[in-house]
Amino acid sequence: MTQNQVTAHAKPGWVYLVGAGPGDPELLTLKAARLIGEADVLVYDNLVSGAVLELANPAAERIYAGKERGNHSLPQPELSLLLVRLAKSGKRVVRLKGGDPYTFGRGGEEVEVLAADDVPFEVIPGITAAAGVAAYAGIPLTHRDHAQACVFVTGHLKDGSMNLDWPGLARKSHTVVIYMGLAGLPCLCSKLIEHGLPADWPAAIVQQGTQPSQRTLTGTLATLPGLAESAGLRPPTLIIVGSVVTLQSKLRWFRETQP
Ligand code: SAH
Repeated sequence: MTQNQVTAHAKPGWVYLVGAGPGDPELLTLKAARLIGEADVLVYDNLVSGAVLELANPAAERIYAGKERGNHSLPQPELSLLLVRLAKSGKRVVRLKGGDPYTFGRGGEEVEVLAADDVPFEVIPGITAAAGVAAYAGIPLTHRDHAQACVFVTGHLKDGSMNLDWPGLARKSHTVVIYMGLAGLPCLCSKLIEHGLPADWPAAIVQQGTQPSQRTLTGTLATLPGLAESAGLRPPTLIIVGSVVTLQSKLRWFRETQP
């Protein structure tokens, strides 16, 4: 067993890239919770909930790294170098990211810099938004009667459009989960229809999943953009497209507060 396979305690001079899950602090792994408590410094993104940060030692330094839409508080290269500097000064560094650090989290980019600088690190997976949000919204991502595959994509708009493999996504046997898709929702729905899904194909959007402010809207590819717009949803939001969405009326269990 190599040194990397077991962590007794957080080690000075190491960076722990930790997945903070989708919001409910009880969805942290035991390892994540322990490392957060042992950190000398936490560098966290905007998606990390306050309840998760409360697990940190009150004496620990907290550095906000931002990453709201259109507002990157610390540019990625500077952020990675900050992690290197903190580790080299002998701190136990926890780099906290919402969800899972290796799922649309740029965790790979940060760890590449650590590896290049010979900074020792560990990566602690978290519950990604797709898994956490789907469970709390009552939408199984796969189901033998509905979907045999599930695809995670980013709906981030580049130059006002989305560059996705539309024929590959517009399949009735797939569930498609779209991260960062709210601004592009009208484009997304019309592209899926254009590539063969029916306009009345089920689709849902979930605001702030796993948190007390969770809100789920269900509709179809034709209706969801309008529903989302008039609801004035607050980020983060996750979009789920697929026949599994029809199960939500039977399987929802999380009590959502009304807006
Ligand atoms: N690494 C994260 C994803 C970062 S990208 C993960 O594994 O979950 C940020 C996007 O994740 C948001 O735009 C949103 O689409 C989604 N997201 C994260 N947390 C969410 C939540 N609690 N509810 C709904 N969507 C969420």
